[in-house]
Amino acid sequence: MQGLAPGTVAVAAGRPERRQGGPVNPPVILSSTYVSAGVPGPGELLYARADTETWQPFEEALAALEDAALPALVLGSGMAAVAAALSLVPPGGRLVVPRHAYQITLGLAAELAARGVLGVEHVDIADTDAVVRALRGTAPDGAGTPAAMLWVESPTNPMLEVADLPALTAAARETGTLVVVDNTFATPLGQQPLRLGAHVVLHSVTKYLAGHSDVVLGALATDDEALRARLASYRTLHGAVAGPWEVWLALRGLRTLALRVERSQRTAAELAARLAAHPAVAEVRHPSLPGDPGHDRATRLLRGYGSILGVRPHGGVAAADAVVDAVRLWVPATSLGGVESSLERRRRFATESVTVPEDLLRLSVGIEDLEDLWADLSAALDASRP
Ligand code: PLP
Repeated sequence: MQGLAPGTVAVAAGRPERRQGGPVNPPVILSSTYVSAGVPGPGELLYARADTETWQPFEEALAALEDAALPALVLGSGMAAVAAALSLVPPGGRLVVPRHAYQITLGLAAELAARGVLGVEHVDIADTDAVVRALRGTAPDGAGTPAAMLWVESPTNPMLEVADLPALTAAARETGTLVVVDNTFATPLGQQPLRLGAHVVLHSVTKYLAGHSDVVLGALATDDEALRARLASYRTLHGAVAGPWEVWLALRGLRTLALRVERSQRTAAELAARLAAHPAVAEVRHPSLPGDPGHDRATRLLRGYGSILGVRPHGGVAAADAVVDAVRLWVPATSLGGVESSLERRRRFATESVTVPEDLLRLSVGIEDLEDLWADLSAALDASRP
Protein backbone atom coordinates (compact mmCIF):
# COMPACT_ATOMS: atom_id res chain seq x y z
CA MET A 1 0.00 0.00 0.00
CA GLN A 2 3.15 2.21 -0.11
CA GLY A 3 2.60 5.50 -1.88
CA LEU A 4 -1.22 5.34 -1.83
CA ALA A 5 -3.31 8.04 -0.14
CA PRO A 6 -4.98 6.94 3.14
CA GLY A 7 -8.46 7.13 1.61
CA THR A 8 -7.31 4.69 -1.09
CA VAL A 9 -5.67 2.39 1.46
CA ALA A 10 -8.97 2.22 3.41
CA VAL A 11 -10.67 0.95 0.25
CA ALA A 12 -7.95 -1.31 -1.14
CA ALA A 13 -6.30 -2.97 1.88
CA GLY A 14 -7.32 -6.38 3.23
CA ARG A 15 -8.90 -7.64 -0.01
CA PRO A 16 -8.70 -11.34 -0.96
CA GLU A 17 -6.04 -12.32 -3.47
CA ARG A 18 -7.17 -11.38 -7.00
CA ARG A 19 -8.20 -14.36 -9.09
CA GLN A 20 -10.64 -14.93 -11.90
CA GLY A 21 -14.07 -15.57 -10.38
CA GLY A 22 -12.82 -14.86 -6.85
CA PRO A 23 -14.73 -12.65 -4.38
CA VAL A 24 -13.92 -8.95 -4.00
CA ASN A 25 -14.62 -9.10 -0.25
CA PRO A 26 -13.28 -11.53 2.33
CA PRO A 27 -15.74 -14.17 3.53
CA VAL A 28 -17.15 -14.47 7.06
CA ILE A 29 -16.04 -17.85 8.33
CA LEU A 30 -18.05 -19.21 11.24
CA SER A 31 -15.90 -21.87 12.78
CA SER A 32 -14.67 -22.08 16.35
CA THR A 33 -12.03 -24.66 15.49
CA TYR A 34 -9.84 -25.73 12.56
CA VAL A 35 -8.72 -29.09 11.28
CA SER A 36 -5.47 -29.73 13.09
CA ALA A 37 -3.50 -32.88 13.91
CA GLY A 38 -0.13 -33.14 15.60
CA VAL A 39 1.96 -30.16 16.72
CA PRO A 40 0.57 -27.00 15.03
CA GLY A 41 3.05 -25.17 12.80
CA PRO A 42 3.77 -21.42 13.17
CA GLY A 43 0.80 -19.29 12.03
CA GLU A 44 -1.42 -22.35 11.56
CA LEU A 45 -5.05 -21.73 12.49
CA LEU A 46 -6.08 -23.91 15.42
CA TYR A 47 -8.84 -22.35 17.52
CA ALA A 48 -10.85 -19.14 17.06
CA ARG A 49 -9.85 -17.60 20.42
CA ALA A 50 -6.28 -17.40 19.11
CA ASP A 51 -6.73 -16.32 15.48
CA THR A 52 -9.26 -16.46 12.64
CA GLU A 53 -9.29 -15.76 8.89
CA THR A 54 -12.09 -13.24 9.44
CA TRP A 55 -9.89 -11.07 11.71
CA GLN A 56 -6.93 -11.01 9.35
CA PRO A 57 -8.21 -8.76 6.50
CA PHE A 58 -9.29 -6.10 9.03
CA GLU A 59 -5.96 -6.41 10.84
CA GLU A 60 -4.06 -5.99 7.57
CA ALA A 61 -6.15 -2.99 6.57
CA LEU A 62 -5.74 -1.21 9.91
CA ALA A 63 -1.98 -1.89 9.91
CA ALA A 64 -1.78 -0.37 6.42
CA LEU A 65 -3.71 2.72 7.58
CA GLU A 66 -1.53 3.15 10.68
CA ASP A 67 1.59 2.32 8.62
CA ALA A 68 2.42 -0.43 11.14
CA ALA A 69 5.08 -2.95 10.17
CA LEU A 70 3.03 -5.84 11.60
CA PRO A 71 -0.64 -6.82 11.29
CA ALA A 72 -2.87 -5.10 13.85
CA LEU A 73 -4.78 -7.08 16.50
CA VAL A 74 -8.55 -6.81 16.70
CA LEU A 75 -10.16 -7.30 20.14
CA GLY A 76 -13.68 -7.57 21.52
CA SER A 77 -13.96 -3.86 22.47
CA GLY A 78 -11.92 -0.71 22.78
CA MET A 79 -11.71 -1.39 26.51
CA ALA A 80 -10.32 -4.89 25.85
CA ALA A 81 -7.60 -3.15 23.84
CA VAL A 82 -7.04 -0.66 26.70
CA ALA A 83 -6.74 -3.52 29.22
CA ALA A 84 -4.30 -5.36 26.94
CA ALA A 85 -2.15 -2.25 26.50
CA LEU A 86 -2.13 -1.52 30.27
CA SER A 87 -0.95 -5.09 30.88
CA LEU A 88 2.39 -3.98 29.38
CA VAL A 89 3.12 -1.91 32.51
CA PRO A 90 5.45 -4.02 34.68
CA PRO A 91 4.28 -4.76 38.26
CA GLY A 92 4.46 -1.57 40.33
CA GLY A 93 5.39 0.55 37.29
CA ARG A 94 4.15 4.12 36.96
CA LEU A 95 1.56 5.04 34.35
CA VAL A 96 1.29 8.68 33.23
CA VAL A 97 -2.21 9.43 31.89
CA PRO A 98 -4.03 12.57 30.70
CA ARG A 99 -6.32 13.91 33.43
CA HIS A 100 -8.91 14.19 30.67
CA ALA A 101 -9.09 10.90 28.83
CA TYR A 102 -11.85 8.39 28.18
CA GLN A 103 -13.40 8.03 31.65
CA ILE A 104 -13.45 4.20 31.62
CA THR A 105 -9.75 4.09 30.69
CA LEU A 106 -9.10 6.30 33.72
CA GLY A 107 -11.41 4.06 35.75
CA LEU A 108 -9.47 0.92 34.80
CA ALA A 109 -6.17 2.64 35.61
CA ALA A 110 -7.59 3.66 39.02
CA GLU A 111 -8.79 0.13 39.67
CA LEU A 112 -5.36 -1.32 38.82
CA ALA A 113 -3.74 1.29 41.08
CA ALA A 114 -6.13 0.44 43.95
CA ARG A 115 -5.01 -3.19 43.65
CA GLY A 116 -1.35 -2.15 43.73
CA VAL A 117 -0.73 -3.38 40.16
CA LEU A 118 0.62 -0.02 39.01
CA GLY A 119 0.92 3.62 40.05
CA VAL A 120 -1.00 6.38 38.24
CA GLU A 121 -0.03 10.01 37.68
CA HIS A 122 -2.44 12.40 35.96
CA VAL A 123 -1.11 15.17 33.72
CA ASP A 124 -2.35 17.92 31.47
CA ILE A 125 -1.29 16.24 28.22
CA ALA A 126 -1.11 19.62 26.44
CA ASP A 127 1.51 20.85 28.97
CA THR A 128 4.62 19.27 27.45
CA ASP A 129 6.98 20.38 30.24
CA ALA A 130 4.70 18.90 32.92
CA VAL A 131 4.44 15.60 31.01
CA VAL A 132 8.22 15.41 30.55
CA ARG A 133 8.72 16.01 34.30
CA ALA A 134 6.23 13.23 35.04
CA LEU A 135 8.07 10.90 32.63
CA ARG A 136 11.36 11.54 34.42
CA GLY A 137 9.70 11.21 37.83
CA THR A 138 12.25 13.58 39.26
CA ALA A 139 11.98 13.89 43.06
CA PRO A 140 13.02 17.14 44.83
CA ASP A 141 16.44 15.55 45.56
CA GLY A 142 17.02 15.03 41.83
CA ALA A 143 16.67 11.24 41.95
CA GLY A 144 13.90 9.76 39.87
CA THR A 145 12.26 6.59 38.64
CA PRO A 146 11.11 7.02 35.04
CA ALA A 147 7.50 6.25 34.18
CA ALA A 148 6.86 2.80 32.70
CA MET A 149 4.12 3.97 30.33
CA LEU A 150 2.81 7.22 28.87
CA TRP A 151 -0.82 7.13 27.74
CA VAL A 152 -1.81 9.72 25.16
CA GLU A 153 -5.12 10.82 23.76
CA SER A 154 -4.87 13.69 21.29
CA PRO A 155 -7.34 15.31 20.98
CA THR A 156 -8.48 14.21 24.44
CA ASN A 157 -11.96 12.94 25.30
CA PRO A 158 -13.89 15.15 26.00
CA MET A 159 -11.80 18.34 26.43
CA LEU A 160 -10.10 18.18 23.00
CA GLU A 161 -6.65 19.11 24.31
CA VAL A 162 -3.94 18.52 21.72
CA ALA A 163 -0.61 16.93 22.73
CA ASP A 164 2.77 17.67 21.16
CA LEU A 165 3.14 14.00 20.29
CA PRO A 166 6.60 14.15 18.61
CA ALA A 167 8.04 16.03 21.63
CA LEU A 168 6.45 13.58 24.08
CA THR A 169 7.63 10.44 22.25
CA ALA A 170 11.17 11.89 22.00
CA ALA A 171 11.21 12.50 25.78
CA ALA A 172 9.71 9.06 26.47
CA ARG A 173 12.37 7.35 24.36
CA GLU A 174 15.02 9.07 26.54
CA THR A 175 13.42 7.78 29.75
CA GLY A 176 12.73 4.32 28.29
CA THR A 177 8.97 4.83 28.70
CA LEU A 178 6.50 2.92 26.51
CA VAL A 179 4.11 5.25 24.67
CA VAL A 180 0.56 4.11 23.92
CA VAL A 181 -1.61 6.45 21.83
CA ASP A 182 -5.38 6.04 21.86
CA ASN A 183 -5.97 7.28 18.31
CA THR A 184 -9.76 6.89 18.39
CA PHE A 185 -10.50 10.63 18.06
CA ALA A 186 -7.87 11.53 15.44
CA THR A 187 -8.26 8.32 13.38
CA PRO A 188 -5.30 7.14 11.26
CA LEU A 189 -6.29 9.80 8.72
CA GLY A 190 -5.58 12.52 11.28
CA GLN A 191 -2.28 11.16 12.61
CA GLN A 192 -0.20 7.99 12.49
CA PRO A 193 1.26 7.77 16.02
CA LEU A 194 3.72 4.96 15.20
CA ARG A 195 5.34 7.28 12.65
CA LEU A 196 5.57 9.95 15.37
CA GLY A 197 7.48 7.65 17.72
CA ALA A 198 4.73 5.84 19.69
CA HIS A 199 5.19 2.14 20.52
CA VAL A 200 1.53 1.08 20.41
CA VAL A 201 -1.53 2.65 18.79
CA LEU A 202 -5.02 1.82 20.03
CA HIS A 203 -8.54 2.26 18.64
CA SER A 204 -12.06 1.94 19.86
CA VAL A 205 -13.07 0.52 16.45
CA THR A 206 -16.65 1.05 17.67
CA LYS A 207 -16.24 4.72 16.72
CA TYR A 208 -14.93 6.10 13.40
CA LEU A 209 -13.31 2.98 11.96
CA ALA A 210 -16.53 0.94 11.95
CA GLY A 211 -18.49 4.18 11.76
CA HIS A 212 -22.14 3.07 11.94
CA SER A 213 -22.79 2.58 15.69
CA ASP A 214 -23.57 -1.09 15.08
CA VAL A 215 -20.55 -2.91 16.52
CA VAL A 216 -18.34 -2.77 19.63
CA LEU A 217 -14.71 -3.59 18.83
CA GLY A 218 -11.16 -2.52 19.63
CA ALA A 219 -7.74 -2.80 18.02
CA LEU A 220 -4.03 -2.38 18.68
CA ALA A 221 -1.11 -1.95 16.30
CA THR A 222 2.65 -1.86 16.80
CA ASP A 223 5.89 -2.21 14.83
CA ASP A 224 7.50 -4.24 17.60
CA GLU A 225 7.40 -8.08 17.34
CA ALA A 226 7.85 -8.66 21.08
CA LEU A 227 5.12 -6.18 22.06
CA ARG A 228 2.74 -7.63 19.48
CA ALA A 229 3.38 -11.15 20.79
CA ARG A 230 2.57 -10.00 24.35
CA LEU A 231 -0.62 -8.23 23.24
CA ALA A 232 -1.73 -11.23 21.15
CA SER A 233 -1.05 -13.50 24.12
CA TYR A 234 -3.14 -11.20 26.36
CA ARG A 235 -6.02 -11.44 23.87
CA THR A 236 -5.90 -15.24 23.86
CA LEU A 237 -5.33 -15.71 27.60
CA HIS A 238 -8.10 -13.28 28.60
CA GLY A 239 -10.47 -14.32 25.84
CA ALA A 240 -10.86 -10.68 24.78
CA VAL A 241 -11.88 -11.73 21.29
CA ALA A 242 -14.08 -10.28 18.58
CA GLY A 243 -16.90 -12.09 16.80
CA PRO A 244 -16.45 -12.69 13.05
CA TRP A 245 -19.58 -10.77 11.99
CA GLU A 246 -18.52 -7.69 13.91
CA VAL A 247 -15.07 -7.69 12.34
CA TRP A 248 -16.52 -8.13 8.87
CA LEU A 249 -18.90 -5.20 9.48
CA ALA A 250 -16.02 -3.10 10.78
CA LEU A 251 -14.03 -3.76 7.59
CA ARG A 252 -17.06 -2.78 5.53
CA GLY A 253 -17.36 0.42 7.55
CA LEU A 254 -13.64 1.13 7.14
CA ARG A 255 -14.02 1.30 3.35
CA THR A 256 -15.81 4.66 3.64
CA LEU A 257 -13.64 6.07 6.46
CA ALA A 258 -12.15 8.90 4.41
CA LEU A 259 -15.51 10.02 2.99
CA ARG A 260 -17.15 10.00 6.41
CA VAL A 261 -14.30 11.71 8.23
CA GLU A 262 -13.75 14.38 5.57
CA ARG A 263 -17.44 15.24 5.51
CA SER A 264 -18.01 15.25 9.27
CA GLN A 265 -14.84 17.29 9.94
CA ARG A 266 -15.89 19.92 7.42
CA THR A 267 -19.36 20.11 8.96
CA ALA A 268 -17.91 20.22 12.50
CA ALA A 269 -15.66 23.19 11.66
CA GLU A 270 -18.57 25.10 10.13
CA LEU A 271 -20.82 24.30 13.12
CA ALA A 272 -18.04 25.41 15.50
CA ALA A 273 -17.82 28.80 13.77
CA ARG A 274 -21.61 29.26 13.82
CA LEU A 275 -21.90 28.14 17.45
CA ALA A 276 -19.18 30.61 18.49
CA ALA A 277 -21.45 33.40 17.19
CA HIS A 278 -24.69 32.05 18.71
CA PRO A 279 -26.05 34.20 21.56
CA ALA A 280 -27.04 31.14 23.65
CA VAL A 281 -23.48 29.76 23.64
CA ALA A 282 -20.93 30.67 26.32
CA GLU A 283 -17.99 28.61 24.98
CA VAL A 284 -17.16 26.34 22.04
CA ARG A 285 -14.20 24.00 21.93
CA HIS A 286 -12.98 22.76 18.54
CA PRO A 287 -9.36 22.87 17.39
CA SER A 288 -10.44 24.49 14.10
CA LEU A 289 -11.28 27.75 15.90
CA PRO A 290 -8.32 30.17 15.80
CA GLY A 291 -8.80 31.02 19.51
CA ASP A 292 -8.97 27.38 20.65
CA PRO A 293 -6.08 26.34 22.95
CA GLY A 294 -5.33 23.37 20.65
CA HIS A 295 -5.55 25.28 17.35
CA ASP A 296 -1.87 25.96 16.58
CA ARG A 297 -0.71 22.49 17.56
CA ALA A 298 -3.54 20.77 15.71
CA THR A 299 -2.74 22.84 12.61
CA ARG A 300 0.89 21.72 12.83
CA LEU A 301 0.42 18.06 13.81
CA LEU A 302 -3.00 16.79 12.74
CA ARG A 303 -4.53 16.36 9.31
CA GLY A 304 -7.97 17.77 10.06
CA TYR A 305 -9.48 19.10 13.28
CA GLY A 306 -11.81 16.20 14.02
CA SER A 307 -15.58 15.91 14.30
CA ILE A 308 -16.07 16.31 18.05
CA LEU A 309 -17.16 19.64 19.52
CA GLY A 310 -17.39 20.84 23.11
CA VAL A 311 -20.20 23.34 23.75
CA ARG A 312 -21.18 25.15 26.98
CA PRO A 313 -24.48 26.98 26.70
CA HIS A 314 -25.31 30.04 28.82
CA GLY A 315 -27.45 28.88 31.72
CA GLY A 316 -25.32 26.02 33.04
CA VAL A 317 -26.44 22.43 33.55
CA ALA A 318 -30.17 23.22 33.17
CA ALA A 319 -29.59 24.84 29.78
CA ALA A 320 -27.29 22.01 28.65
CA ASP A 321 -29.90 19.41 29.62
CA ALA A 322 -32.57 21.48 27.86
CA VAL A 323 -30.58 21.38 24.61
CA VAL A 324 -30.31 17.58 24.83
CA ASP A 325 -34.07 17.35 25.44
CA ALA A 326 -34.94 19.75 22.62
CA VAL A 327 -32.99 18.29 19.68
CA ARG A 328 -34.99 16.22 17.22
CA LEU A 329 -32.38 15.22 14.60
CA TRP A 330 -29.26 15.00 16.78
CA VAL A 331 -29.47 11.82 18.84
CA PRO A 332 -29.11 12.09 22.62
CA ALA A 333 -26.67 9.22 23.16
CA THR A 334 -23.23 8.38 24.40
CA SER A 335 -20.48 7.19 22.02
CA LEU A 336 -19.29 9.02 18.92
CA GLY A 337 -17.91 8.54 15.42
CA GLY A 338 -21.10 7.17 13.82
CA VAL A 339 -22.77 8.45 10.66
CA GLU A 340 -25.49 9.97 12.87
CA SER A 341 -24.82 13.13 14.88
CA SER A 342 -25.18 12.70 18.63
CA LEU A 343 -24.69 14.69 21.80
CA GLU A 344 -24.56 14.29 25.56
CA ARG A 345 -23.65 16.17 28.72
CA ARG A 346 -20.59 14.33 29.89
CA ARG A 347 -20.87 15.09 33.62
CA ARG A 348 -24.20 13.25 33.72
CA PHE A 349 -21.83 10.36 34.46
CA ALA A 350 -20.60 10.41 38.05
CA THR A 351 -17.37 8.83 36.78
CA GLU A 352 -16.46 11.70 34.43
CA SER A 353 -13.44 13.74 35.54
CA VAL A 354 -14.48 16.59 37.90
CA THR A 355 -12.34 19.06 35.95
CA VAL A 356 -14.65 18.62 32.94
CA PRO A 357 -17.19 21.49 33.22
CA GLU A 358 -20.57 20.27 34.46
CA ASP A 359 -22.41 21.99 31.61
CA LEU A 360 -20.13 20.72 28.79
CA LEU A 361 -21.99 19.10 25.92
CA ARG A 362 -19.93 16.76 23.76
CA LEU A 363 -21.20 16.75 20.19
CA SER A 364 -20.22 14.05 17.69
CA VAL A 365 -20.86 15.36 14.20
CA GLY A 366 -22.03 12.81 11.65
CA ILE A 367 -22.58 12.99 7.91
CA GLU A 368 -26.06 14.52 7.70
CA ASP A 369 -26.63 17.75 5.79
CA LEU A 370 -25.00 20.75 7.50
CA GLU A 371 -28.08 22.97 7.27
CA ASP A 372 -30.37 20.30 8.77
CA LEU A 373 -27.96 19.82 11.67
CA TRP A 374 -27.66 23.57 12.23
CA ALA A 375 -31.42 24.17 12.08
CA ASP A 376 -32.04 21.51 14.74
CA LEU A 377 -29.17 22.57 17.01
CA SER A 378 -29.75 26.32 16.82
CA ALA A 379 -33.48 25.82 17.52
CA ALA A 380 -32.60 23.68 20.57
CA LEU A 381 -30.15 26.35 21.78
CA ASP A 382 -32.76 29.08 21.31
CA ALA A 383 -35.25 26.99 23.32
CA SER A 384 -32.66 26.50 26.11
CA ARG A 385 -32.01 30.24 26.68
CA PRO A 386 -32.56 31.14 30.30
N1 PLP B 1 -11.03 5.18 23.88
C1 PLP B 1 -11.80 6.25 23.63
C2 PLP B 1 -11.16 7.56 23.29
C3 PLP B 1 -13.20 6.14 23.69
O1 PLP B 1 -13.96 7.22 23.45
C4 PLP B 1 -13.77 4.88 24.03
C5 PLP B 1 -15.23 4.70 24.12
O2 PLP B 1 -16.00 5.66 24.17
C6 PLP B 1 -12.92 3.79 24.29
C7 PLP B 1 -11.55 3.97 24.20
C8 PLP B 1 -13.47 2.44 24.68
O3 PLP B 1 -13.96 1.80 23.55
P1 PLP B 1 -15.17 0.73 23.56
O4 PLP B 1 -16.41 1.48 23.93
O5 PLP B 1 -15.16 0.22 22.15
O6 PLP B 1 -14.84 -0.34 24.57
